[in-house]
Amino acid sequence: MEQVYLDHAATTPVRPDVLNCMIPYFTNGFGNASSVYRLGREARKALDQARTTVAEILGAEFNEIIFTGSGSESDNLAIKGYALKNRAKGNHIITSSIEHQAVLDSMKWLEKQGFEVTYLPVNELGLVRVEDFQSAIKEDTILVSIMHANNEVGTIQPIAEIGKIAREHGIAMHTDAVQSVGSLPVNVNELNVDMLSLSAHKFYGPKGVGALYVRSGIRLDPLIHGGGQERNRRAGTENVALCVGLAKALEFAEAEREQINPRIEKLRNKLIDGIMTIPHVRLNGCREKRLPNNVNVCFEFIEGESLLLNLDMKGIAASSGSACTSGSLEPSHVLLAMGLSHEIAHGSLRLTLGKDTTEAEIDYVLEQLPPIVQRLREMSPLYNG
Ligand SMILES: *Cc1c(COP(=O)(O)O)cnc(C)c1O
Repeated sequence: MEQVYLDHAATTPVRPDVLNCMIPYFTNGFGNASSVYRLGREARKALDQARTTVAEILGAEFNEIIFTGSGSESDNLAIKGYALKNRAKGNHIITSSIEHQAVLDSMKWLEKQGFEVTYLPVNELGLVRVEDFQSAIKEDTILVSIMHANNEVGTIQPIAEIGKIAREHGIAMHTDAVQSVGSLPVNVNELNVDMLSLSAHKFYGPKGVGALYVRSGIRLDPLIHGGGQERNRRAGTENVALCVGLAKALEFAEAEREQINPRIEKLRNKLIDGIMTIPHVRLNGCREKRLPNNVNVCFEFIEGESLLLNLDMKGIAASSGSACTSGSLEPSHVLLAMGLSHEIAHGSLRLTLGKDTTEAEIDYVLEQLPPIVQRLREMSPLYNG
């Protein structure tokens, strides 16, 4: 096999049909969406259509969608923008210890500005307990941010329940849905959320464009100041081509989700079952409340990084966890929060399937992986079996 790409949680290729929809806005349709002449009005029309599509799919209103430059920016705008704007209401924010770095580092930044942040623990399956959220609520809690699906272990959090409690307490609820949008049904009303982040490159759209849903009535301080674009919430000439690409990719993902998920899930389960026959391996995360494309395991007596390099030599693209922790020597903060020891967490491997993953590719991985694991273990001083 030439190249087996099993890192769809890191990014996905742009679908050719999405690319085709974008190209006209790089070429003849290059107008500025704020200009009054025809070229500008046409760009505005395409942008409006993209916003309408995203709003309809999420169960939101047209004016509740802000286009941003990435999922990271959406997270930053939701968290920092809300906290700074609503500081007079309170000083306390709640999040979880397994969030994406874009959320965790936004929280760290707010702590430096004098906010108090509670990081909820997770159980050994990587799930936030609703009771823990409930008991963390204080008089001055203004915001809670809990991710919908985790990017490393794929666990799906009880967002609707947490959102309901947040609402009863007058606390704004944000969710990072970057991993779930396109893969799971995501409706902002069913999830009881006030803000929701998504990113196009995680569902076969282009990189460099995301969106933030902001429930009407929720006020944010903008992070980027300048023109009045995005209703004064995100300055900068709109990137019409990328917004069109995001909306098209979301539309295709929604239309195909019910056909694709059962197939991916079946291949994913085959992959898990095959990997679990290797000795000294554990599955990380929750078997049921899990994204259909996610596999995350730890091999004892192995360094995740050397495993990745050996897989790469066989043409298999995988990850040890999040793209952000790869390359650093620290094991995944998600696995540590789930109670794994440093030693075990170091041997993590994440394989994330995509809509075009084939059974032949899964068979190939199941053929290549066990001997690599065996060889690396034989080199380890800790291994004697
Ligand atoms: C990828 C990812 C992000 C960041 O999105 P970018 O568009 O790459 O900035 C944020 N949160 C989660 C859960 C992700 O998987």
